[in-house]
Amino acid sequence: MKIWAIANQKGGVGKTTTAVTLAGLLAQAGYRTLLMDADPHGSMSVYLGHDPDVMQGGLYQLFHEIDNLSTASVRDILLHSEYENIDLMPASSSMAALDRQMGTRGGMGLVFSKALQLIKEDYDFVLIDCPPLLGILMVNALAVCDELLVPVQTEFLALKGLERIVHTLNMIMQSRNEVLHYTVIPTLYDRRTRASRGALEALQEQYPETLWPGVIPVDTQFREASRVGAPLSMMSPQTRGAQAYSNLLEYLLSADQQAAANS
Ligand code: ADP
Ligand code: MG
Repeated sequence: MKIWAIANQKGGVGKTTTAVTLAGLLAQAGYRTLLMDADPHGSMSVYLGHDPDVMQGGLYQLFHEIDNLSTASVRDILLHSEYENIDLMPASSSMAALDRQMGTRGGMGLVFSKALQLIKEDYDFVLIDCPPLLGILMVNALAVCDELLVPVQTEFLALKGLERIVHTLNMIMQSRNEVLHYTVIPTLYDRRTRASRGALEALQEQYPETLWPGVIPVDTQFREASRVGAPLSMMSPQTRGAQAYSNLLEYLLSADQQAAANS
């Protein structure tokens, strides 16, 4: 089981879109994929047809049942989506209270880790959609993931957000025993605008090692895909947006194979 977390402390940069679209592509390639909605706003749950405001339990339950988790109890909170090979661990708005409720209790940074360990035979990939806040949910995601994906909107203000997440990452990495590899993904790229081109150049300069050499273009079909609740790669595989994510996935999978070969 491979675990990828998708994070950036800025909102609206394409985190949820990246998680859902990559999950669609992975599922289409036959990989059993779990989408974990770790954002109390629950955009990903909404995308897949579930309302986080009425959701009872979901991911929230992991924290409250941490001492009694079993394979069955973790499986119990998962939902099948209407797409083959895509399951969801849904969010509930109650997750917003977790930092207040759990903040001072020890051992709460490895809740995802314990839960996913119990179901590691069930999935080939787990994609975690992170909240924009650095708190218990983000700490859990960064502690458990094998790879971090950082979507960055190609505009000047967004680069600041990237600095912040890299800083967070360095902090977290000190508490992990291994280096956490991350890939920066330029999103919402519009080559006609100077802001997009300038931001991409800045990324190429500042993050030459970790930058995915492609871009995710602005494509209005993403909004349409989220409206109908389908990954764009399933709704309209020929769109520019879906093609770009397909290139990204190919890159991530081959980087992964290389890393495995080298280790
Ligand atoms: P985040 O999870 O980082 O807050 P989202 O993935 O929810 O960001 O994206 C924010 C909005 O932008 C959504 O309405 C989404 O449909 C739209 N969007 C995301 N990526 C693109 C893109 N490449 N082109 C056009 N719209 C996009
Ligand atoms: Mg989101």
